[in-house]
Amino acid sequence: MYDVKSMKAEDFINHEEILETLEYAEKNKDNIELIEQILEKASPKKTGRGVECAGLSHREASVLLACDNPEITEKIFALAREIKQAFYGDRIVMFAPLYLSNYCVNKCVYCPYHIQNKEIPRKKLTQEEVKQEVIALQDMGHKRLAIEAGEDPVNNPIEYILDCIKTIYSIKHKNGAIRRVNVNIAATTVENYKKLKDAGIGTYILFQETYHKDSYEVLHPAGPKHNYAYHTEAMDRAMEGGIDDVGLGVLFGLDKYKYEFAGLLMHAEHLEAVHGVGPHTISVPRLKRASDIDPSTFDNGIDDDIFAKIIACIRIAVPYTGMIISTRESEECRHKVLELGISQISGGSRTSVGGYAGYSSEERPHDTEQFDVSDQRSLDEVVNWLMKGGYIPSFCTACYREGRTGDRFMALCKVGQIQNCCHPNALMTLQEFLCDYASPETKKIGEELIAKEIQKVPDEKRRARAIQYLESIKNSGERDFRF
Ligand code: SAM
Repeated sequence: MYDVKSMKAEDFINHEEILETLEYAEKNKDNIELIEQILEKASPKKTGRGVECAGLSHREASVLLACDNPEITEKIFALAREIKQAFYGDRIVMFAPLYLSNYCVNKCVYCPYHIQNKEIPRKKLTQEEVKQEVIALQDMGHKRLAIEAGEDPVNNPIEYILDCIKTIYSIKHKNGAIRRVNVNIAATTVENYKKLKDAGIGTYILFQETYHKDSYEVLHPAGPKHNYAYHTEAMDRAMEGGIDDVGLGVLFGLDKYKYEFAGLLMHAEHLEAVHGVGPHTISVPRLKRASDIDPSTFDNGIDDDIFAKIIACIRIAVPYTGMIISTRESEECRHKVLELGISQISGGSRTSVGGYAGYSSEERPHDTEQFDVSDQRSLDEVVNWLMKGGYIPSFCTACYREGRTGDRFMALCKVGQIQNCCHPNALMTLQEFLCDYASPETKKIGEELIAKEIQKVPDEKRRARAIQYLESIKNSGERDFRF
């Protein structure tokens, strides 16, 4: 039976509740009066403390997603843009994935790492290789990584992951530093989550892949990942282990998108109901071509229009949750969805194990790639492109380093302090990038942007301090200022 507070996957992601939700959404998809009420409920409201948004339940959001009236779709997009502006402004946080190992004992039918794939060489970075990768990433300008590994208790035990995290944080090459390591590894035990917490990780990311239990079991025919309940309940164990920031995600293309959308929001509601804080991020990967994987053999692919609508509806339903897209998506698609709700993107990414060190920005090793990368631009090119599009690329990692994780981060959003905090932090970290890594053209565009944007910090004292810090970054080489 559906129970948002139950600790059992089959209760909080209850199949019947999803089916009823989809039926309700289908029945009401032309009910304009109800839809207008839902949009009104979700729209930002000015309160004494700032701007607040109520968000939507999975049922309400599913009605929006089901509605195919073009006028309403425009209203959905407009509201998503408004919410995005209210909480994230024009800032886009940058990150890069770092693939540690492609050894894997699972048989996930959509993933090239599956144990039966003999086409890819298996590779695991040594600590010396991790160091070289991190130096290459720092030399691009990255400050935030998401580490990725297949599931293999013998080749990639938790001790190996912890060693890698330690190595990553220890490297300070020139002015570089990795200040936040997010971790995308297989579901594990509370004890191991505690170890990850103690290692100082940022977000623990685990994609559900699909919320549909029967499909899940078919798509994961063997290996530890086959266990739907263990996988679905992982975020509860992570939070029990002390990790405040968790990142959800669905791999779109595996099952029907409306089902996944309802499941994803039910998962977010569950975390909020049980732990008092929803997911820190939601990722929206789409299935891609890869070694031994042909996406056309899967029936549930979604086109760019549906993809954009899903992103807009997530933005409206969970306004305080960051949203991430990767270089799986093309430049054109990324452009379209940025304004609808995306707050974090990867840039200059390599999805192969050992893909950064020793390769120029034009060379790309393909042998151990996890999936084809659509957006193959360098980080400098992505930063340049974002700024030309009116965005502010941010390398900020301040929140969790200042203890603003979980509900404390949400509190910052809710009291309207973002413009006094995130805005100068974004500009200061962008200034670091411009000084240390940018091409002359990117530097020029960036410095003009910073000069204009710093004036938008509302608090006078904060603005003056931020200007002082920007000068120190430029003139005395100091780094890592933050509010
Ligand atoms: N091994 C960990 C796990 O099982 O959760 C996480 C690491 S895996 C390298 C990261 C994610 O890549 C997976 O969760 C999956 O959603 C995604 N992925 C796998 N195959 C893909 C494909 N062909 N196209 C796009 N994304 C894929």
